[in-house]
Amino acid sequence: MKIGILDIDTKRETNNLGRRERYPNIACGKIYGYHKLNGDEIFYPYNNEKVDKLYISTIFTNTRPMIKRMMPLWEQRAKEIIIGGTGWDDYTKAPYTVTELPPEIATISHVPWTYEMYNIDYGIGFTTRGCHVGCAFCVVPKKEGLQEYREMQVKDLINPRSNHLILMNNNSFAHRDFMNDVEQIKFHNLSIHWDQANDITLVTPEIAKALKSVNYRGYNPNKKQLFFAFDLITKKKIDQETGGTVTYDMMKIVPEKVKLLQEYGIPPYHLKFYMLIGFNTTEEEDLMRVDCLRELNCDIYPMLFRDLNGKVGVDGNGKQQSFHVRAMRDWIHSGLYRKTDFKDFTRREEHRIQREKKESQLTLF
Ligand code: SF4
Repeated sequence: MKIGILDIDTKRETNNLGRRERYPNIACGKIYGYHKLNGDEIFYPYNNEKVDKLYISTIFTNTRPMIKRMMPLWEQRAKEIIIGGTGWDDYTKAPYTVTELPPEIATISHVPWTYEMYNIDYGIGFTTRGCHVGCAFCVVPKKEGLQEYREMQVKDLINPRSNHLILMNNNSFAHRDFMNDVEQIKFHNLSIHWDQANDITLVTPEIAKALKSVNYRGYNPNKKQLFFAFDLITKKKIDQETGGTVTYDMMKIVPEKVKLLQEYGIPPYHLKFYMLIGFNTTEEEDLMRVDCLRELNCDIYPMLFRDLNGKVGVDGNGKQQSFHVRAMRDWIHSGLYRKTDFKDFTRREEHRIQREKKESQLTLF
C-alpha cells in the first residue's frame, strides 16, 4: 500500500548546528511506524504523489481554510484521506468533535519511529499528559483531562544517537512522579529540555533543587534554558490537595519564585516566560508583566491569543482585541522592549491610528 503523511503545520526550530529543522509530530511518527511495520511504501514529506491513503495532521486551527482549499487536489491523488490533530478537532463546545487515531496505530510506541521519520538525534515525547489548572484559553484540559497522568518513562524516550531529551509535558511539576523523572534524567546522564511552559506557582525548594540538579537546556542543547508561564495577572486553579480553588497574584508569585530559583543556583537569565497577550489583560497589565520580567532579567516569549476556533483579533470574551496587542508582540519579539518604551515604539502608534480610522469609518456608515 502507498501511504502519504502530511504534518501540515509542523513548526521549524533552529538546532544546535544552526539548521532549521522540523519539530516532530509524534502522532505522525506512530502512523509512520505502523505502516513501516506493515511493509507499506511511505511518502513523507508528502508531495502530491498518488497514494492509497493520505494522513493529514494539523496542530493549529488556522490551517483549516488551507486544508479545505486543497482537498479537491488531494481527493484526486489519494483513495482515502484521514485528517486529524488538535487543529482539526473542535473543542469549542462539549461534547467535543475529536478524530482519534485507529487503535492499532494509537497503541504503538512513537519510539523509535518518530526519530527515524524526522531523522532526529534527540529523544522527544511525553512522560506525563493532562493538566489540572484548566486555563480557559487552553485546549489541553479539554483534550487530555484535568488531571496529570503518566504516559511514558524517561528511559523509554531516549534516542541512542544522543543524550538530549525533549519533554512536551503540559505540567511536569504537578505529577507525583516528577522527582522520578528527575532521577531517571540524572541516572541516564541526559540533558533535558522541558518544552512547554512550566507552572511557576508549583516551584518549591524541593523542585528548585531538582531543577538545578539536572542539565536543563533549551531546544538547542547549547543553551541553558527553562520555560515558565506568565499568562495571567491573576491565576486561578484547583488545589491538588484540597480540590478547592486557589488564586495567585502572579505579579507577586513570579518575582518570589524567580528569587527562589536563584537561591538554588538557577540564574534569572536562564528563565524564559511565555506571556499570553490579548486574552484578558489590558495594555497597562501587559506592561506591568514586561517591566516585572525585564527587571528580573528574564526572557519573554509573547504569545498572541487566538480562540479555540483559531480566530485571531478577538479577546477571551470574543470582543475585538485592543490595538496594542500586535504591536506589543512585535516590540517584545524584536528585543526593543529592552531598550525603548512601548509608547515610543512606532508600530504602536500606527496600530492606534489604524484602529481609530476603522472605528470612525464604522461610525460614519
Ligand atoms: S497551565 Fe498550561 S497546560 Fe495547563 S491549562 Fe493552563 S495553559 Fe494549559
